[in-house]
Amino acid sequence: MDVKAERRRALAAVAEWLRCPACAGALALSERSLACPSGHSFDVARQGYVTLTTGRPGPGTGDSAAMVAGFSLAMAWSVESWQMT
Ligand SMILES: [Zn+2]
Repeated sequence: MDVKAERRRALAAVAEWLRCPACAGALALSERSLACPSGHSFDVARQGYVTLTTGRPGPGTGDSAAMVAGFSLAMAWSVESWQMT
């Protein structure tokens, strides 16, 4: 099985549920990153995960950077878990 293709498929499957932490725009998967229509982009790590952090709280969400980081970790974990099944 092509692991990289599998991971990419998994990421594409969850991308529609993700929102940009900077502007809350929809994220779309491109070659090596997730990007929103406003031009914020987040690199896909070689291991297949994406860290959705801006280093500052998102506008109007009340989420702290730590909360956003925790969410990113949770997403990475759930994608990994999903791949195991
Ligand atoms: Zn954005």
